[in-house]
Amino acid sequence: MTARILVVDDIPANVKLLEARLMAEYFEVLTASNGFDALDICDRTQVDVILLDIMMPEIDGFEVCERLKSNPRTAHIPVVMVTALDQPSDRVRGLKAGADDFLTKPVNDLQLISRVKSLVRLKTLSDELRIRHDGTRQAGVEDSLRLTDGRLEEQAQVLLVDSRGASQERIIKALKPIAEVSALSDPQAAVFEAAENGYDLVIVNSNLTDYDPLRLCSQLRSLERTRFIPILLITEQGDEQMIIRALDLGVNDYIVRPLDPNELLARVLTQVRRKRYNDRLRNSVRQTIELAVTDGLTGLHNRRYLDTQLRTLFARAKVRGKPLTICITDIDRFKLVNDAFGHDAGDEVLKEFSGRIRSTVRGADLACRYGGEEFVVVMPDTTAEVAASVAERLRLMIEARPFQLRSGETPLTLTASMGIATLSPGIDTPEQLLKQADRALYEAKNSGRNRVVAAAA
Ligand code: GH3
Ligand code: MG
Ligand code: MG
Repeated sequence: MTARILVVDDIPANVKLLEARLMAEYFEVLTASNGFDALDICDRTQVDVILLDIMMPEIDGFEVCERLKSNPRTAHIPVVMVTALDQPSDRVRGLKAGADDFLTKPVNDLQLISRVKSLVRLKTLSDELRIRHDGTRQAGVEDSLRLTDGRLEEQAQVLLVDSRGASQERIIKALKPIAEVSALSDPQAAVFEAAENGYDLVIVNSNLTDYDPLRLCSQLRSLERTRFIPILLITEQGDEQMIIRALDLGVNDYIVRPLDPNELLARVLTQVRRKRYNDRLRNSVRQTIELAVTDGLTGLHNRRYLDTQLRTLFARAKVRGKPLTICITDIDRFKLVNDAFGHDAGDEVLKEFSGRIRSTVRGADLACRYGGEEFVVVMPDTTAEVAASVAERLRLMIEARPFQLRSGETPLTLTASMGIATLSPGIDTPEQLLKQADRALYEAKNSGRNRVVAAAA
């Protein structure tokens, strides 16, 4: 794992020490001796994790962290505060400033490396999403990381797995201001519950009776439906081995007993915020992908999508010896609609036409706008005969029901012509299949329009 770590400390010896340890693990290390330099570096270059000293002259670590987290360009960089302070109140202050974790001086080697690795891994995941998202620049996504003075836009849904009633109650009470907590003591039931209902966070208390808490964490990490839910582990003081293994498994954060309610609250807030940020990124990426394969006017798939899908469906049908039929349809004399009623009226017709195609084909069929007023329907596992009857049904549906325009009083009677081609031994490529259907369509046009013509096999 290579990553660029920024070490910030006003004491050169501390910088050297951390730098040496990180370099021994092949991390790339940048250093800064004060807060302003650190902010400057983060603004100019790509940094993956920041190790930040708290007590520094001029601006201290809390303020540096706050500034990083309020700048959309740097808000996503994980910050670990490295501190000699070990009071719960300092931790809470750090978490409120947006810190992702703490290391206490003198820094323990194992904790340092496992912590950094785990943060790098989590950051890599959101980076991938961010890169794809950046092309679209959808508003609002960055907002979910913004510090909001200890509040969330929406109550967090937290699943707590804890074997002891008293401890459950304490945690529920501590999280009351920000979260609705469902508590379960049975780890297996918890896995199902987490997979069924959309939680923002799972808290695993290591006090489970007869059950390895790390097994539960690993199950949650491996299931498709739960692998993006953050996990917060509650451990015993001094149980370093468990913490290291937990972080290795992909547990997002841990907190040590005795629980400080404020620290718990702050850590939950951080995790939930990050989760929502990642969810938004993921959704926006999904939307972008959808946009790229969708025709903007009609909402049908576009030609690009047809090209890739048809290739797959074609190859599959060939290999399995299954039928595959395509139908190209083109609206008759569509130009006259534009000429007589304007382009907008033409667009309306195209939308309505698409709606009728969609309502005619089965779920397994692929309907696309091929261009202009031409559409293609790909019908897997469908013989030419069956496809011809589908096309005939569509043809009738166009002819029989006039198109009502928003502007015009008299509905327009329109017709469409269709060409059908089916996979046969002589056809070796999707392009040949399309060409055959196109020829059949041409024939339909030439022999009077408003009809279905199937290409001779
Ligand atoms: P034919 O029966 O031979 O198919 O005649 P046609 O008039 O339908 O065919 P032609 O290819 O001559 O004209 C198609 C027209 O479709 C011309 C073009 O302006 C129009 N068109 C293509 N895309 C769009 C669109 O997105 N919106 C609108 N309103 N019109 C479009
Ligand atoms: Mg036409
Ligand atoms: Mg045309």
